[in-house]
Amino acid sequence: MVESLYGIPVERKAIWVFLEQCEGVFEGVSLELLSKGRLMADRMGWQLVGLLMGKGVKKLAQEAIAYGADKVLLADHPLLENFTIDAFGHVAFQAIMEDKPSVFLSGATPNGRDLAGRLAVRLRTGLNADCTDLRMDLETGVLVSEVSGFGGGVLALIEMQKHRPQMATVRTGVFPPGEPNVDRTGEVLQLTVDLTREMIKTKLKERVVGEGVDLTQAEILVVGGRGVNGDYQMMRKLADLLEGEVGATRPPVDEGQIERERMVGQTGSVCRPKVAVVCGVSGAFHFVVGIQYADTVIAINSDPEAPIFDYADYCIVGDVFDILPALINALKVAPGVKHA
Ligand SMILES: Cc1cc2nc3c(=O)[nH]c(=O)nc-3n(C[C@H](O)[C@H](O)[C@H](O)COP(=O)(O)OP(=O)(O)OC[C@H]3O[C@@H](n4cnc5c(N)ncnc54)[C@H](O)[C@@H]3O)c2cc1C
Repeated sequence: MVESLYGIPVERKAIWVFLEQCEGVFEGVSLELLSKGRLMADRMGWQLVGLLMGKGVKKLAQEAIAYGADKVLLADHPLLENFTIDAFGHVAFQAIMEDKPSVFLSGATPNGRDLAGRLAVRLRTGLNADCTDLRMDLETGVLVSEVSGFGGGVLALIEMQKHRPQMATVRTGVFPPGEPNVDRTGEVLQLTVDLTREMIKTKLKERVVGEGVDLTQAEILVVGGRGVNGDYQMMRKLADLLEGEVGATRPPVDEGQIERERMVGQTGSVCRPKVAVVCGVSGAFHFVVGIQYADTVIAINSDPEAPIFDYADYCIVGDVFDILPALINALKVAPGVKHA
């Protein structure tokens, strides 16, 4: 087995979080990781360190401290204005080799995945991707990462016994975001950045910002599965009445009945709505991952044996094409509900 560039004898007992930001705003998953990282660092008596890279992002360091970081390593440089793996990978690699942290966490965003993958290869360590939970073993200081495997049939607990840093990526919504404490104090350490333009092979030509929906922020989610037979207008009517968002399972997305960004589940979004109304969905593991943190799940399915009922708080057995129109009509006349 290949040895990592550094190991346990020289590791620094610290949990690092890649603080991903875009145009001066943190990605939600970075704040979620700070909150989870804080709990793990407290359990171990370790430091929680944020790695912040960008241009003109100094003001974000205090925000990271408010969300739980003890220390922020700040790399502020014109060549870090936009994410490029050459620049971010170089700076992060140098910072890691300088400090040799035990744990490095990143959001499983496109950039976070890119960075974590590049770093894992350069550091010759392992990377647990798309973890569904993380915890520190108090005795050994080993990070225990929960990852679903074999198509969701098993939940594997993965530990890195020798390789360092112990790396993991986590998707948005898996951990709840913490509350900021503006009175928290911490250290901000400016990193020396030795980037040159020649080192960056990626040339950013244009930034196109999609109008995409972020289901992870929805408080009410109305999800339609294969059982709604592509009738997302009906889903939209209900979602509008409840001031919520429309989501879908994978089959209707694959069949082009609804946009991919609305997919809920393991390959879609992991959501934390207060209420999820789940219609015509069987309840496959890959889907349930996406609503497992919902406060309340209401399921409508014509099959009384559908596995979704095992996860639902309220189970309605019946045809969605009977139940939903009746529900929509009832909500239209219900006091206190916004009329569509
Ligand atoms: C690696 C991998 C990743 C995956 N990731 C995801 C993911 O992120 N998200 C996801 O959703 N899936 C994902 N899948 C697919 C997943 O395993 C299931 O196949 C999928 O969730 C099933 O979608 P469904 O419940 O809409 O369809 P089905 O399983 O076909 O269920 C349809 C349900 O509708 C009910 N029904 C039919 N007609 C009516 C009616 N008129 N009224 C009421 N109920 C009715 C049926 O009783 C049935 O229970 C993934 C699969 C793999 C292998």
